[in-house]
Amino acid sequence: MALVLLWMTQLQAAPPLFEEAELAAARDPVGYLQRLDAEPHQEMELFHARSLAKAALGRHPEALQDNARARALASARQETMRLLDFRLQQIALTLDTEAPQQALKLLAQLEPDLVGHPVQLSEWHALNGLALYRTQQLKEAIGELKTAYHLKQQEPETPLSLLQCARLLMTLGNLYADLSLYQESETYYQDALRLMVRLNEPNSQAIIKANIARLYIDMDQPARAKKLLDALLGTPGLSPDYRAIVLGYQAMAFNALAEWGSAWRSLNEAQTIYQGLGYPQAGSRLTETRARTLQGRGEKQLALQLLTTRPGPTSIEGKALQARLLADLGRYPEAYRVMTEYMQSYKQHFNQTLSQHASAFQAEMELARSEANNRALQQENDRKRQQLLYQQSARYYQLLLVVLLAGALILLGFATRRLHRNARHLYKLATFDQLTGLPNRRALLEQLEQQWQLNEPLTLLIIDIDHFKQINDRHGHQTGDRAIQKLAQALKSWAPDLQQIGRWGGEEFLVAMPLDGATCWRLAEQLRSRIEYLAAPHMTISIGVAERCPADDSLSQLIHRADMAMYQAKRQGRNQTILAAAPDMLSELTSSVA
Ligand code: GH3
Ligand code: MG
Ligand code: MG
Repeated sequence: MALVLLWMTQLQAAPPLFEEAELAAARDPVGYLQRLDAEPHQEMELFHARSLAKAALGRHPEALQDNARARALASARQETMRLLDFRLQQIALTLDTEAPQQALKLLAQLEPDLVGHPVQLSEWHALNGLALYRTQQLKEAIGELKTAYHLKQQEPETPLSLLQCARLLMTLGNLYADLSLYQESETYYQDALRLMVRLNEPNSQAIIKANIARLYIDMDQPARAKKLLDALLGTPGLSPDYRAIVLGYQAMAFNALAEWGSAWRSLNEAQTIYQGLGYPQAGSRLTETRARTLQGRGEKQLALQLLTTRPGPTSIEGKALQARLLADLGRYPEAYRVMTEYMQSYKQHFNQTLSQHASAFQAEMELARSEANNRALQQENDRKRQQLLYQQSARYYQLLLVVLLAGALILLGFATRRLHRNARHLYKLATFDQLTGLPNRRALLEQLEQQWQLNEPLTLLIIDIDHFKQINDRHGHQTGDRAIQKLAQALKSWAPDLQQIGRWGGEEFLVAMPLDGATCWRLAEQLRSRIEYLAAPHMTISIGVAERCPADDSLSQLIHRADMAMYQAKRQGRNQTILAAAPDMLSELTSSVA
């Protein structure tokens, strides 16, 4: 049981060994390789991790062998993605072995297989950028490295992706430094440094700081460089190869400060470290610095010997130094030849820098132009928004106006209705008698005048309650009022359709009918007898009837005759109807009921 558990924990412990192999190899290549070597398996991941660790230790041929094993296993197992990773690693190693042309060939072969693999594609651009850099195609290299960086940034952030971003930024810093674009270079270095601080990568931080110091030397600020390098050498746990690099830069700073003795000591210390690490060829990087120190110390012959006997190409600065030494030693024809070489190299470098400057300037111009366009677009948008706001507020005011108008109309409607009602009320007050609801004397007269104009048959009846004062006196005014109302009611129900009835005064009524006098007299008699038999209060009426006749020259004359007939009825004993005789006839039709 315990054995099974142990086996299981080992099984689970295995993957983290390869997890983020690149990160582990960068951080602690020696320790990582020791742990890897303890593994007995023949895993492709194991070979890949070994290859990374060995590459980090500078053991490139061995690293390439392990990489080849990893590739073979991935290919046999048809692990396409891993095979792509291993092929990229092969290219990285090829580049490290100073074979950039070979790397470019491998990159071209790999490119078609990368469709649909964005992570590997960004790595491909990074390596292509490096290969272009190594083949001195600086402008193209910058483009590729920037593409790689932007692709990397789109990936989800992991410690590994951050490390790769930081490396890209550092390489861009190196490139710009080579182009003497110091400010850009420092910006990239500082960005890279920030990432390395986040990743807690002390070794990588050291190498970036060393590069920044190197930049200060190129910028003729050796004191500033020396300060930075001194601080770096004091860093605990600085790996020996990085220490050697820092010492080399320190020697350069001392040279620039004309502190030849110190420079010599730094160079010797660096050389010892390189020998200890087993890379004697790395010491050749220090040759130019050493020659410069020797020149400073006045040992020109030795310095020249060092420069001319060392293997590998000479840098531009190296050529300048060589020409200077030859001239100092009086070997003018040789000095002239080297000087010409220097001039050519310098011209090439200058042109490259110039074209880089030009393209940087162009890029800035384009940026400025697009910013200006953006600003114009923004202004246009602002203007449109303003317009929209204005339109909206205008619509708002329109709406407000409509609402106000509607409100005013409604109020006006109310007012008009009230006015109308008031007018109607006034009209009613002016036209109708309140007690009976019948037209009053004025309204009645108006209508009679109109009827008078028609020249049609017209008979008027004037009806008066007998001894009304007595009713009032005996039963009270209210009863009197009720008696008036009752008579009015009786009149309405009695009169034929075409009649006009009105309250003529106190307890007097007038009825106009388009009928002849005799008919009206009969109708009046019916009314009179009906009233006589009404009870509570009991009352009788006297009626005067007058028919229009040609002798009547006005309405008032006709009314007067009806009045006279009514008075005649009173005089003759009341409760009777008198038909007035025509003015030219003296005959009177009298009716009385006892
Ligand atoms: P006659 O038979 O001669 O007509 O006698 P009378 O008492 O009816 O006399 P007259 O017609 O002169 O009297 C009218 C009275 O009617 C006078 C007034 O006090 C009364 N009167 C007038 N208008 C009203 C009214 O609206 N209500 C009441 N209760 N009394 C009224
Ligand atoms: Mg009267
Ligand atoms: Mg009366």
